[in-house]
Amino acid sequence: MVASSVLGFPRIGANREVKKAVEAYWAGKISAEDLTKAAADVKKTSWTSLKERGVDFIPSGEFSLYDHVLDHSAAFNVIPKRYQGQGLSPLDVYFAMGRGRQADGVDVPASEMKKWFDSNYHFVVPEVSEETEFKLNFNKALEEFKEAKAAGVTTRPVVLGPVSFLILSKASKEASEGFQPISLLSKLLPVYKTLLTDLKAAGAEWVQIDEPILVLDSAAALEKQYTTAYEALSPIAPKILLTTYFSRLDSNLSYIAKLPVAGLHIDLDRAPGQLDEVIAAVKPTSIVLSLGVVSGRNIWKTDFAAAIKLGQKAVDGLGADRVIIATSSSLLHTPVTLASEKKLTAEQKDWFSFALEKASEVSTIAAALSGSQDAAVTAALEENKVSIAKRREFETTSDDTVRKRVAAITPEQLERKSPFAIRKEVQAKHLNLPKFPTTTIGSFPQTKEIRQARAKLGKGEITVEQYDEFIKKEIETVVRFQEKIGLDLLVHGEPERNDMVQYFGEQLSGFVFTQNAWVQSYGSRYVRPPIIVSDVSRPGPMTVRWSSYAQSVTKKPMKGMLTGPVTILNWSFPRADVSRELQSKQLALALRDEVVDLEKAGISAIQVDEPAIREGLPLRRSDWDAYLKWAVDSFKLSTAGVTDQLQTHSHFCYSDFDDIFPSIQRLDADVISIEASKSDMKLLNTFKHYGYSNQIGPGVYDIHSPRVPGQQEIQDRLKSMLDILPDSLLFVNPDCGLKTRGWKETEASLVNLVTAAQWARQTY
Ligand code: GLN
Ligand code: ZN
Repeated sequence: MVASSVLGFPRIGANREVKKAVEAYWAGKISAEDLTKAAADVKKTSWTSLKERGVDFIPSGEFSLYDHVLDHSAAFNVIPKRYQGQGLSPLDVYFAMGRGRQADGVDVPASEMKKWFDSNYHFVVPEVSEETEFKLNFNKALEEFKEAKAAGVTTRPVVLGPVSFLILSKASKEASEGFQPISLLSKLLPVYKTLLTDLKAAGAEWVQIDEPILVLDSAAALEKQYTTAYEALSPIAPKILLTTYFSRLDSNLSYIAKLPVAGLHIDLDRAPGQLDEVIAAVKPTSIVLSLGVVSGRNIWKTDFAAAIKLGQKAVDGLGADRVIIATSSSLLHTPVTLASEKKLTAEQKDWFSFALEKASEVSTIAAALSGSQDAAVTAALEENKVSIAKRREFETTSDDTVRKRVAAITPEQLERKSPFAIRKEVQAKHLNLPKFPTTTIGSFPQTKEIRQARAKLGKGEITVEQYDEFIKKEIETVVRFQEKIGLDLLVHGEPERNDMVQYFGEQLSGFVFTQNAWVQSYGSRYVRPPIIVSDVSRPGPMTVRWSSYAQSVTKKPMKGMLTGPVTILNWSFPRADVSRELQSKQLALALRDEVVDLEKAGISAIQVDEPAIREGLPLRRSDWDAYLKWAVDSFKLSTAGVTDQLQTHSHFCYSDFDDIFPSIQRLDADVISIEASKSDMKLLNTFKHYGYSNQIGPGVYDIHSPRVPGQQEIQDRLKSMLDILPDSLLFVNPDCGLKTRGWKETEASLVNLVTAAQWARQTY
């Protein structure tokens, strides 16, 4: 029999119950017990619904109140000193590590967050040093295994593997020069031994150990560590399913297939080409092969016929008992259920499959491969065939105007008229900004009033005119505020935007929207990615009226604000039938028209945000060049249609740029703002090292936490920045948009920022 499996399930609840409970707990409105109860209800619902859908291997232990990597850090006692001894409960220490804490005399910033591989999910980076004393504070995998059991569901607990945990960690401040977190492996393994021994004793037959690092080039050098780890763990653990996802094993396969594990999971959504090799490699062993044929990353219905073909290959090679049909990765990256969507047309709904529907898919595919004659299975196969055929039919329609425009893109369209050095002078005259210009990344607090107005508009409780008036007032308030505190390059505050991608998607053709398809981005922040279903074009201007309104109420220069093509693509669910490159270029052309229209409307600086350009980078280096070529070209295409006097900005969040630096330079944005407040100037040294020539605004404080940075703190940061960067290139700004912040901390922080910039002007 071919079994079915789901590697992980969304942990937000079908109606965002977890967000609501977590935020209520933070606000002091509910107790820790209430929070635990709310979480327990969500977990129980997920487990039982997976069971009802006939999934054989149901995950537990991967649920999280904030982040699963942070769960491991808390469990393993990887708790940086700054969070200890503050009199906080373990739960509050946990949240303090995730989001910082500033209350009742405690003032600690959040830990660093990073993108989870090439996804838009962020994990909290563990910090370790030689002094780290690992111990098992609690065994979450065990607790949830028991919790599921009590709910009548036998699960396969999930843990993040020891090697991946350490490779994802960073050296803490206490660590000595050159310290490598992976050197702690032998110290960490005893903790895993206890964890796994206890799981086995509790009756867990299998354990899923995630080692996503195995799909990276860097894993080639980790053979010894992987061998040591799994030789130590496999004798005492339940049967180990070693899971890899998001890319291919490549040459790492040669040692992976020799590891003493009972099962191996591979991602056939991202890397179907690896199947033959993997089958051949595991054939002589007794390893069970878990085939990730149902995408954990997109929302398209699985083509059963194609999946069955892959599955059959494995069955032929290994026998049905050694094959599992699975989701390619955790379903964390997909929305909970299509059943919540009431506004999609029947045609559209028929194209998609969310987490719960994907659970049914794995069980149907597994049943088909097991030769099931069940009428429900036969019907599901037949239905799928019809749906897939209809979608294929739809995919043959295209927008010829856009296709032709993409085909006709010339190299000249990608370049500004003059080089940066000339533009800089022209812009200095035109914009007349002071030294160390202060600006923000675009959004201001999205208050309850703003969200309510948007909701009322949606429900028809206010007219479009009333809503527009409301937005205008908001814009004016934000403009006056910026004038009052003395910012130099203003923004309109983005009150009209529900989300930086959705807002654009809604105004472009080619997108479809959902009502409830939320996915977790970080902590209690969820996003609702639009879905690209066909060719993209811009029916008309998208932001011009708001930006020009904002400019009309002030004499200070106003910065127009757009989301870049690569980011719109990466934060949407893309089409699966055409390349990402084509989708990106179509978006770029639409944005190019918008940028040109903004300049015509009198806007003199335009920021095109590309926070996702780094995360979209393929996981395997051999795929980088091709991606960077079209990604950077897309950005240039969208921004280069203007005159020299227009100052282009771009913004990136959480970016490691060391390895893609030439591409950042090739973007040729006049100013870029980057996240730098948490990365200890490492990032800036990279810019210096490569002699970055354009202007740069390294974020001077972290906006992902409500904590207010003191003026001295910002001054110190500016000082260390100026030790590295030439003062003629420096802009002063926060490290990201302020939409998730409250007004109180925003005002306090920005006042300190402006004062610090004034200090810098006098000092340098
Ligand atoms: N302009 C956007 C904002 O300020 C940028 C957000 C982002 O980079 N994530 O919200
Ligand atoms: Zn950002």
